[in-house]
Amino acid sequence: MVAPAARKSRQARVVWGDRVVTVGGDAPVRIQSMTNTDTVDVIETAIQVKELAQAGSEMVRITVNTPEAAAAVPYVREQLDRMGENVPLVGDFHYNGHRLLTEFPDCAKALSKYRINPGNVGKGDKKDKQFGQMIEAAMQYDKAVRIGVNWGSLDQELLAELMDENSRRAVPWDGRQVMYEALITSAISSAQRAQEMGLNGDQIILSCKVSGVQDLVAVYRGLSARCDYALHLGLTEAGMGTKGTVASAAALSILLQDGIGDTIRVSLTPQPGEARTQEVVVASEILQAMGMRSFVPSVTACPGCGRTTSTTFQELARDIDQHLRSQMPVWRVKYPGVEKMKVAVMGCIVNGPGESKHADIGISLPGNGESPAAPVFIDGEKALTLRGDRIAQEFHEIVQAYVER
Ligand code: SF4
Repeated sequence: MVAPAARKSRQARVVWGDRVVTVGGDAPVRIQSMTNTDTVDVIETAIQVKELAQAGSEMVRITVNTPEAAAAVPYVREQLDRMGENVPLVGDFHYNGHRLLTEFPDCAKALSKYRINPGNVGKGDKKDKQFGQMIEAAMQYDKAVRIGVNWGSLDQELLAELMDENSRRAVPWDGRQVMYEALITSAISSAQRAQEMGLNGDQIILSCKVSGVQDLVAVYRGLSARCDYALHLGLTEAGMGTKGTVASAAALSILLQDGIGDTIRVSLTPQPGEARTQEVVVASEILQAMGMRSFVPSVTACPGCGRTTSTTFQELARDIDQHLRSQMPVWRVKYPGVEKMKVAVMGCIVNGPGESKHADIGISLPGNGESPAAPVFIDGEKALTLRGDRIAQEFHEIVQAYVER
């Protein structure tokens, strides 16, 4: 699979100890996520950060909204370090970030990146000063920043200015175009202001999040054309379940295909009982499906139809998929490259052998009216035929032997 060519961007470094996560430039598109715990609850927060990191999140953002949360941040970091988890932490600041970063230097040091929202960093005369205090902290402690604009908390003064300007145009823009311009201008002018204050432009990552697919595509196409900062991509408030997953996949895929996006977050609302890590799984699946990164061996399976008489092949596909995923923490280290492996589990011989030849290892289970035999292909060649009651078990053993080989 040919991965899309990336837009040329600057490269930021998000660092904790020996762990350096590069974002932009020639780095792979990074996955990040965010906790939903109260940061004051140090243990709960550290546990969720670790879970997200183990699921594949390369940076984890935590809420820093009160003096108590800011005071808790160094302890969250300490807990993680004790657990042997060095994933960089990103602090999410709104309204009072300037005070928290100034009054809690240990918090400022324990974080690896600060998220600054120019829409709520301050109003009127105070805006520039408070924004400046956050940039000062980033320079003092050598941290990256994300200037993250969100249309739910857009800078109202800037929006009013742009609307006023628009009313004087010969052909005024429509309301959406004004909104896009406000998002992009807020992000880029804030980044330029940060650079004027002395922050290295390489350490600035931008985002302009909206919750509609077409809006996101329009905004990021505009943003990417007007700057070379690394871009954080995500559909904000994507929603729950299938809707959130599909909307995120649609929006992110279009932009990633254009080479736009250096780090992604899928913002899913977890359904009751659903793990927070689901958003990391979806983000990984998007990048893997796009051919941009590989995380786990992929299992190709047909949908099944009237030619399949039982659910055997579906169960085998599911079991193989679960087995491969569960082994990855060990296999990733023991068998480098195993994440690129492709397995096909097909319901009959109509498309089974053809699909199996495209996989590293594939099987076609006997369909309705076919002889009770399951041809197995390895590296594109028919290797053997399985028969009898132990087909699933024997295929498992063949996959295991292939990985070990
Ligand atoms: Fe149906 Fe066979 Fe195609 Fe699967 S491979 S969808 S069982 S015809």
